[in-house]
Amino acid sequence: MRIKIDKLKEGGNSEVFEAGEISEVLSTEKKIVRADELCLNIEKSNDYLHIHGSCSVCCEDSCDRCAENFESELIVNIDYYFHIGEIEGAAADDVEIIYPDESNGELVFDDHLKESFILALPLKNLCSGDCRGLCVGCGANLNLEKCSCPDKDKTDPRWDTLTKLLNTDK
Ligand SMILES: [Zn+2]
Ligand SMILES: [Zn+2]
Repeated sequence: MRIKIDKLKEGGNSEVFEAGEISEVLSTEKKIVRADELCLNIEKSNDYLHIHGSCSVCCEDSCDRCAENFESELIVNIDYYFHIGEIEGAAADDVEIIYPDESNGELVFDDHLKESFILALPLKNLCSGDCRGLCVGCGANLNLEKCSCPDKDKTDPRWDTLTKLLNTDK
């Protein structure tokens, strides 16, 4: 995924990357089910570039509670600032200095796309908000079946001490 910096004109530019290319770049992070093509807006003002856009990506994940695989749809937002060559004085923290002359006039954008994708991933992977998870007693997937473990075995063992405390109060 490369952007030809030396071909950009002043002002607005756009660059389209095909779905296949997006999937391929992101496949090192997750199993990608499908991706949209990505249209990046590239605004050039002298040596400053603002590159932004968004695309939707569907990836396969496994649920943190029940361990089943499920597909999740993510919106990946891309928003980066670059400066071609050194900046005189202090540069803003969010501006990345690039040297396209040393790379055929191109900017390799793979890592930026990956980073944006990782930021779009949820902190918790749940197949659904009300996933019941696995029984800690027998391992049954409680979304699919009711197991015959007594209820006390179904609570998370980390709460045992609390349960005991509550029971002694009675
Ligand atoms: Zn689940
Ligand atoms: Zn059980």
